[in-house]
Amino acid sequence: MEKCKALIIAVDGHSSTGKSTVAKLLATRLGYVYIDTGAMYRAVTLAAMRNGLINGEYVDEEKLRICLKDLVIDFRYNEGHARNEIYLNGENVEERIRGMEVSGNVSLVARIGFVRTYLVEQQREMGKTGGIVMDGRDIGSVVFPNADVKFFMTASPQVRAMRRYKELTAKGEAVDYAEVEENVRKRDYIDEHREESPLKRTEDAVLIDNSNMTIEEEVQVMMAVIEKKKC
Ligand code: C5P
Repeated sequence: MEKCKALIIAVDGHSSTGKSTVAKLLATRLGYVYIDTGAMYRAVTLAAMRNGLINGEYVDEEKLRICLKDLVIDFRYNEGHARNEIYLNGENVEERIRGMEVSGNVSLVARIGFVRTYLVEQQREMGKTGGIVMDGRDIGSVVFPNADVKFFMTASPQVRAMRRYKELTAKGEAVDYAEVEENVRKRDYIDEHREESPLKRTEDAVLIDNSNMTIEEEVQVMMAVIEKKKC
């Protein structure tokens, strides 16, 4: 019997499109490893903050370059949580990197060329044998331009802002919907216009507009695309 190929699956797209939710579900159904590249940018940001290298909008790039040499970032599977969690120099920082402070600084760090080169190299190493679902902004365009399957996820700014608004209010944060929508549009602009690896849909990426789709519908559509490539 023909052996099924262990694929490299790239999931890119706009923020608040639920990339990590579907990428995780796909990985579970396929028995693949899920890699959240955003978490890696967040971990470097946390290290930079802890070393006092971020001051307002300023990042001390020279010191960060040196600091990167001593950083060890890896993912370890947590049985209890049934997920891969990120470690920074042996410390589990999965929760810590999701906080507002890191979120507020990560785009300053993610736009630095040598940080991207450093992380892209690790991402390529993690995925080289296939059997991987990797989500981010530049996976199909830069990290694995030859990925077996590429998805580009989007939804209208209003739908994404409403999802984010509901998430934040559920956590008890007092936010204004208009402010959230403004933030979604601003992040799209920054992601699409930055010099280093801007967010863009490659021609061979399957577009998934999930404005009016349930997660299950989305996963079914994506699995149908993957199954065609698999065996
Ligand atoms: O996906 P998440 O929101 O956790 O990503 C955190 C930040 O890292 C975002 O600001 C995004 O622009 C950046 N990022 C990136 N390239 C990736 C993944 C994330 O620039 N491959």
